[in-house]
Amino acid sequence: MLAVRPVGGKIRIADSTYLIKMAAVNYQQAYAQRMAQLSRTQREHENERRAMSPPRVLREGTKKSVVVNFKDLCERMHRQPEHVMSYLLAELNSTGSLDGHQRFVVNGKLAPKTIEGILKQYVDNYVICEYCKNPNTVLSKQDNKLVVNCEKDVQS
Ligand SMILES: [Zn+2]
Repeated sequence: MLAVRPVGGKIRIADSTYLIKMAAVNYQQAYAQRMAQLSRTQREHENERRAMSPPRVLREGTKKSVVVNFKDLCERMHRQPEHVMSYLLAELNSTGSLDGHQRFVVNGKLAPKTIEGILKQYVDNYVICEYCKNPNTVLSKQDNKLVVNCEKDVQS
């Protein structure tokens, strides 16, 4: 529906139609941009969620904590448990090891939220492609630096 109100006879019908069309184009562009941003953020969250599962942490004795589903966490991220462990230990400024079941045993009383926060950083730094947010990537060493390789992007 096109309603054209003459304003003091100054705006001709052709001009009004043009203005209304332009307004519609601008609105559509803004809407498309907003949707693109929304879906990008949603895609990022979705991929983070897919690459991660909540760590299950048990207390062992009074001084140790054990991430019992550590093997599963690493498999989901497609990363070597040793690399994930060394990242966690550096961030926690603590010492620890993997036991025979690839459970992560760390010295200190740790809350699951603490481990989860560091794992999220790890996923952002070493798992998810920074360009397309794809979580199925490969970590490789280039010039002594770890690089996230994504098959969905052309590598330069
Ligand atoms: Zn990518």
